[in-house]
Amino acid sequence: MVFIVAIDGPVGSGKSSVAKAVAKELGFAYVDTGAIYRALALAALEAKVSWQDHEALANLAESLEISFLPSPCGQKTLLNKIDVSQKIRTEEISQGSSVVSQYAEVRSRLLALQRRLGEESKSGAVLEGRDIGTVVFPHADIKIFLSASDEERAERRFLEITQRGEPAVYAAVLAGLKERDERDEKREAAPLFAAADAILIDTDGLVQRQVIEQIKSHIKKVYQK
Ligand code: C5P
Repeated sequence: MVFIVAIDGPVGSGKSSVAKAVAKELGFAYVDTGAIYRALALAALEAKVSWQDHEALANLAESLEISFLPSPCGQKTLLNKIDVSQKIRTEEISQGSSVVSQYAEVRSRLLALQRRLGEESKSGAVLEGRDIGTVVFPHADIKIFLSASDEERAERRFLEITQRGEPAVYAAVLAGLKERDERDEKREAAPLFAAADAILIDTDGLVQRQVIEQIKSHIKKVYQK
């Protein structure tokens, strides 16, 4: 049986960095499920399919080949075998991904892929997203829900964007993050919330290493090689 670690939380809660590090340090696979919704938003943009057209989006989701390749920075995202890892990180695609992910029929078409990616790993897998512990792997061995204040999350996101050499305005980053969270929390299909059995970690004032160690120590309590 594959050991599944589910890490959920809102934008900028630090999921990606800690999920990547935990997976690497434990020799587990890392699966960034947000990249799947981002790839769909990009594919729709390129195919001129509206982000509001849920039927066309569901059909598009069915026809796409979304795959991942491990890379030194975590994971490369391939859309129909083309590397789109950079293209899916723009603010436009961030917002688009949270629009296309609202629809139940879109989510259901992408569920099997997420489960397969988790289950095909040899020992364990760390999956990060919004509904991993509630929908994708409701029986995950460990569920973590990360949170942080809006301001701290916006600060992290702002740094992430500017460190990539892209321009950003803090107030716009904060507004964009709130807009995306609200959509993710209020949608009917698999909204963002902490599973009843999730371990809640408020990352305000914690450095990344502290969060990684906390998660690893929870895993070590239940993980038997
Ligand atoms: O995690 P990331 O910010 O890359 O995710 C992009 C968007 O994809 C989120 O805002 C959310 O709307 C959607 N998403 C989701 N369920 C997941 C992962 C991401 O709805 N499991």
